[in-house]
Amino acid sequence: MNRKILVTQSSMPKYEEYIEEIKDLWESHWLTNMGDKHQTLQKELLSYLDVNNVELFTNGHMALELSLQALDFKVGDEVITTPFTFASTTQAIVRNGLIPVFCDINPIDFTIDVTKIEKLITEKTVAIMPVHVYGNVCNVEEIERISQKYGLRVIYDAAHVFGVKYKNKGIGSFGDVSCFSFHATKVFNTIEGGCASFSDEKIGKRLYELKNFGIKNQDEVECVGANAKMNEFCAAMGLCNLRHLDAEIFKRAKVVECYRKNLCGIEGITLNPIQKNVVPNYAYFPIIVDEKIFGHTRDEIMDELARYDIGARKYFYPLTSSFQCYNGAYDTNETPVALYMSTHVLTLPLYADLELKIVDKICNIISNMNNK
Ligand SMILES: *Cc1c(COP(=O)(O)O)cnc(C)c1O
Repeated sequence: MNRKILVTQSSMPKYEEYIEEIKDLWESHWLTNMGDKHQTLQKELLSYLDVNNVELFTNGHMALELSLQALDFKVGDEVITTPFTFASTTQAIVRNGLIPVFCDINPIDFTIDVTKIEKLITEKTVAIMPVHVYGNVCNVEEIERISQKYGLRVIYDAAHVFGVKYKNKGIGSFGDVSCFSFHATKVFNTIEGGCASFSDEKIGKRLYELKNFGIKNQDEVECVGANAKMNEFCAAMGLCNLRHLDAEIFKRAKVVECYRKNLCGIEGITLNPIQKNVVPNYAYFPIIVDEKIFGHTRDEIMDELARYDIGARKYFYPLTSSFQCYNGAYDTNETPVALYMSTHVLTLPLYADLELKIVDKICNIISNMNNK
């Protein structure tokens, strides 16, 4: 009878629109390797993201991993980052032979706590990799000041902030590189995909080679590259989805507004902040549950929603610093705010086509639990 409500649902164009978009591919037989769709999408993203340069990738993770490689750090160099993120951020650092140094997040918008960065800088620190969590913008000015003072690179994990503007500038114009994800679950998708935005064209040249095995030309292979090229079918999906993105974001805004109206008065539930000078993209709807005031834990809310076939997600949990693969190298108590967040946050279903009456239902289930 009732369909299961998942935490997200991928945006898709009309079937006919996509078929129309990929028709040329049966004429050109050009399926990948920076074809027409790839080039067109790249151009359109420059203007949509309001940035100087964009390089497309097979996914957001490879954008992060190859951006770090493009900056030519040495094995064992340190990168200051946060553990309250998706696996990708930390794995990209470690897979480059670099050492993640975990900084805590601030309890206001859950991005890196800029007052705690300087204490973590050593002679081995080469970069900061902050995350614009849930679409919330990091304190880019303070990060810029610190990076200039110590000569550090800044690579933003911008997977959550597609289309976000800060002080009328595209969010991808801050730092040395910003990496976006176009995964099926993100605000803008190319099925799988991602991009890096940057201002230094030298970085762009390196990224272009790195995503294509390091090949410079038919005779020369300049660096140890990977294969991370976006194919034409994915780029075509992006071209279609981009046409409808503003409408999708508008619908997301309505869903968020409905959640906020319903949940703002509930004691023990804290909502994501509304940031000044930010044009948001309504990427996620996290709630932070203080069980001492609300009367139930985050996990109990998740279980109760599951009884009604509504999927919510512990996002982000666990902290990346506690992953098994790091063999206990990091102490999560050194990032207490991140630890608290990871054990108290729940992201609720949010996508453009989520019906407002379902949002009301979700909110009712939660408010009915309050102190019962
Ligand atoms: C989705 C995501 C990524 C990775 O993107 P993919 O396109 O799935 O590889 C990286 N960081 C964060 C914070 C993400 O949410």
